[in-house]
Amino acid sequence: MVEPTPGMPDRWARLWAPHRMEYLKGENRPLGDNDVICPFCRVPTLDDQAGLIVARGNTAYVVMNLYPYNAGHLLICAYRHVADLTDLTKEERDEISDMTAHAMVTLRKVSSPAGFNLGMNQGAISGAGVAEHIHQHVVPRWSGDANFMPLIGQTKVMPVLLSQTRDELAAAW
Ligand SMILES: [Zn+2]
Repeated sequence: MVEPTPGMPDRWARLWAPHRMEYLKGENRPLGDNDVICPFCRVPTLDDQAGLIVARGNTAYVVMNLYPYNAGHLLICAYRHVADLTDLTKEERDEISDMTAHAMVTLRKVSSPAGFNLGMNQGAISGAGVAEHIHQHVVPRWSGDANFMPLIGQTKVMPVLLSQTRDELAAAW
C-alpha cells in the first residue's frame, strides 16, 4: 500500500494498491487460431461497468486506464482499430478532441485537478502500450503528485475502487 501524498484527494489516494485489474482478464488471450484480441477493441463489447467505460460516443469511447499514471487517468479510444492520427476520419478526430475536452470538464467537477497532461503516443517506439489502436491520454495532475507518479506507474489499482472512480466520472459526465 502506497502512502497518500499531500495534494492528492483522499478518496482517490486510497486507489493505489497492487491488484490485478478487471478488464485485463481477457486481454491478449488467444481466441482460437492465432488471433489475439486487442484490448481497445474488446472493451466496447463489455458493459460499461465491466469494461470500466465512462462514456460512449458515435466513433469513440472513454475508459479508465488500467495502468494509470495518476488517479482518474482516462483514455479516449476510437472504436475502429487504426493506429495513427492520420488514419482517423475528421468525424473521429473531432469527437476524440471533443471527448478530451469533456473529460477535462468532468475531472475538474469530480476531483479538481490543478492541471492535465494530454497526449497520444504514436508508434511503439514512442512508448505506446497498445500502439496499433489509437488512444488519447487524459492525465489529471495535482500539485505535489510528481514524486508519487513513478510509484503508482508500477502499481495496479484494485478493480472495485477503479470501478467506483468510473461510477463517479460516468455520473458526472
Ligand atoms: Zn483495436
